[in-house]
Amino acid sequence: MKYNFSAGPSILPKQVLDNIAAGIINIEGSELSILELSHRGPIIQKVRNEAVSLIKELCHLPDDYHVLYLQGGATTQFAMIPQNFLSVNEKAAYIDTGVWSQKATKAASYYGKDVTVASSADEDYSYIPELGGISDNVRYLHFTSNNTIYGSQYTNYPLIDVPIVVDMSSDILSRSIDYSKFDLIYAGAQKNIGPAGATIVIIKDSFLKSITKELPSIYDYRAHVKGDSMLNTPPVFAMYGCMLNLQWLKEQGGAEAIGQKNKEKADTLYSALDRSDLFVTKVRKDSRSQMNVTFSITVPELEEEFLNFAASEGVVGIKGHRLTKGFRASLYNALPLSSVKVLVQVVQHFEQKHG
Ligand code: PMP
Repeated sequence: MKYNFSAGPSILPKQVLDNIAAGIINIEGSELSILELSHRGPIIQKVRNEAVSLIKELCHLPDDYHVLYLQGGATTQFAMIPQNFLSVNEKAAYIDTGVWSQKATKAASYYGKDVTVASSADEDYSYIPELGGISDNVRYLHFTSNNTIYGSQYTNYPLIDVPIVVDMSSDILSRSIDYSKFDLIYAGAQKNIGPAGATIVIIKDSFLKSITKELPSIYDYRAHVKGDSMLNTPPVFAMYGCMLNLQWLKEQGGAEAIGQKNKEKADTLYSALDRSDLFVTKVRKDSRSQMNVTFSITVPELEEEFLNFAASEGVVGIKGHRLTKGFRASLYNALPLSSVKVLVQVVQHFEQKHG
């Protein structure tokens, strides 16, 4: 038995994997594979329609929001957002909460002026910085709702009176969120939505209509909306996996119900770490992520031994990001509480061994 705590691509429910496997062999009784059908045919059109409407339903999106399935990962969105919305003489505000937000900021600098309006760099990204006011006239504000590498997450969103753009790659649909507060939300699918290969972009119509630039169609949100995510060949297989995983999420009671479970999972792990003398968590309590729990060991020489011990108990994917080192347990939607309890036992047994 394996307990998969990977940061992404990450755990998917067994039921979803079984359904994906079935669709690879024979989708909807067609005697054909999902992998060999035209995206213009009825089966894939239906998959696209359902994958889109499940996002709308589960996010409770108002009617004036568009949902796209694109390729290129969240990283492509770092560039596509300023490419569409920012002109040479305009400014965009970015909040610096670590690597991913910095990559987004850097991409904006190619198209206009990026302004960093808050940062937690002073304390190694161990907290979510407060946003005071913004004195500049900015085209939009960008922030990363959950910082996958450091293990910090927003609870109160910085909502100011400019269009709000959010990278939700690692916490979209993980709890109850009012998406109507935002103008553009984007997320790589490979954590809570489905397999890698699809990127979800949610855009408010008024924000879409504010685009005035001439762009090659593949980089133009208006063209993707007009083409219903089928401007060119979409990530068919990933979209199919997303559809099946979103169906599963709906069966679980949606983001609200899964959010309660995610909270219980995170509370269980954080309280075990808080009780421990050997393991520590660096992220400030009010900024702790429910999705990615980062922690380290006070005796660094024991790091490797802990990873090996965890692996011998079936716990995989907890090695920290190469920048932060230590450990990271990702508790995405598909991970059951029972797996978290196994990890807690592993932590406790290791501590007893070295206590
Ligand atoms: N933003 C965040 C918050 C992420 O965690 C990641 C990847 N883990 C990215 C952006 C980059 O996503 P992608 O690999 O899909 O480009």
